[in-house]
Amino acid sequence: SPAELDITLDHRFAQELPELSIPWSAQAATAPQLIVLNEPLAHHLGLDPAELQSPEGVRLLVGNRVPRGATPVAQGYSGHQFGSYSPRLGDGRALLLGELTNDEGQLRDIHLKGSGRTPFARGGADGQAALGPMLREYVISEAMHALGIPTTRSLAVLTTGDLVQRETALPGAVLTRVAKSHLRVGSFQYAGTTGGTELVRRLADHAIARHAPEAASAENPYLALFASVASAQAELIAQWMLVGFVHGVMNTDNMTISGESIDYGPCAFLDAFDPAAVYSSIDQNGRYAYRNQPAIAEWNLARFAETLLPLFDDDDDHAIALAQEALGAFRDQYSAAWSLGMKTKLGLPQDLDDEVSSPVIHDLMTLMQAQSLDYTSFFRALTDAASGDLQPVRRQALDPDALDAWLKGWRELSPDAQQMAQVNPVYIPRNHLVEEALDAATDGDLSPLHQLLEVVTDPYREREGYARYASPAPSSFGPYRTFC
Ligand code: AMP
Ligand code: MG
Ligand code: MG
Repeated sequence: SPAELDITLDHRFAQELPELSIPWSAQAATAPQLIVLNEPLAHHLGLDPAELQSPEGVRLLVGNRVPRGATPVAQGYSGHQFGSYSPRLGDGRALLLGELTNDEGQLRDIHLKGSGRTPFARGGADGQAALGPMLREYVISEAMHALGIPTTRSLAVLTTGDLVQRETALPGAVLTRVAKSHLRVGSFQYAGTTGGTELVRRLADHAIARHAPEAASAENPYLALFASVASAQAELIAQWMLVGFVHGVMNTDNMTISGESIDYGPCAFLDAFDPAAVYSSIDQNGRYAYRNQPAIAEWNLARFAETLLPLFDDDDDHAIALAQEALGAFRDQYSAAWSLGMKTKLGLPQDLDDEVSSPVIHDLMTLMQAQSLDYTSFFRALTDAASGDLQPVRRQALDPDALDAWLKGWRELSPDAQQMAQVNPVYIPRNHLVEEALDAATDGDLSPLHQLLEVVTDPYREREGYARYASPAPSSFGPYRTFC
């Protein structure tokens, strides 16, 4: 019967690290209503979509029915926000409901965002979320997943039946989020600030068990944990850069230990290629500009290493030397991952000598920037060019002569069009389409949202009748600004 939902969660984080969270309950939603449910993800989690759509399922997804075995908690974390340290952030409007083990034995956090004020809420923060931003996270995270980029995922968005006050009154919503974990660099900072080395050690042991089990048997397990996080982040940030993603708020509390992207607030995808692109209205100095993301990730990892130093070695100087060496690997791995990814985007063999590929890549970046080429559609048009059809790519160029010169050199390397079609998406969640879908949903029309989800969750397969989804914003859309 629906009253007996077949869902059991664990509460390992709450149990093993009680100092790092506060047991808490979601605010009661007046009239919860399912707006979107991710059926493929439900299946992957071993959950029955029909059960989740039932009234008891909806109550569970919105946080008003605590599943068997669960102890919901607000997690504590600190964070460097735009470079300055806040010792106490934490889940101000979110809860870790518990951990679910899927049919493949994988552990996944089930988390609620927008579920009401917690003891970590600061100042006048209301603990609420509006429908638009929760749908943005749903759309972007599912698009990222479909693009093959590690990310937290979205199981559902529900309206609560209550209004939240922003510039206007907006429908309140909860996002039901799924993640390998919600451990962040900021979780380690919080452990260090509030509990010192022994608490950091217990958190690190928990993180090793969850994300880097091979580190447990390494000569220096905590250094091995750090190296594995640095490695996962190098791969992740390379993928962001290759797809033209700008996270917008890479604070240390928004960087995961799992290597998944998290917290899609003021994020955006590049349209016209511009390394200095910044979209967030709060990022006034461009700290989190597109081109700065690898350096910021390295900076955040340095903050992570600082929390672990006493675990690396009893001797401070030796601990620092170990940390620096491990951190140094980030840059090399990031560069290698980016170069390899760019070769793949250009249809070039993986083992092509960098001395051959680097100038081709460098000249392309220069050309794309000089001509403000649309990042996504240009690479896709290059895919056509690799199979001999130069019209789509020529149509995009402002200076066809400069383009032709570059195309000639590149085509001499015999790019593989089929390989390119597998890695250069036709459809990304373009900023203007995301805004359009969110606005319509807020006004009660969900069809643009569903159409957008349909294309961005199957991004490499070009479809008839969807040209609009593959095209840059009309100039009437103007420069894009994001708010969070
Ligand atoms: P975010 O920008 O989503 O990464 O959140 C940064 C911090 O602000 C986290 O500690 C959040 O819990 C908190 N926060 C953001 N919005 C709210 C809100 N409406 N109410 C309470 N806390 C919030
Ligand atoms: Mg506690
Ligand atoms: Mg956050």
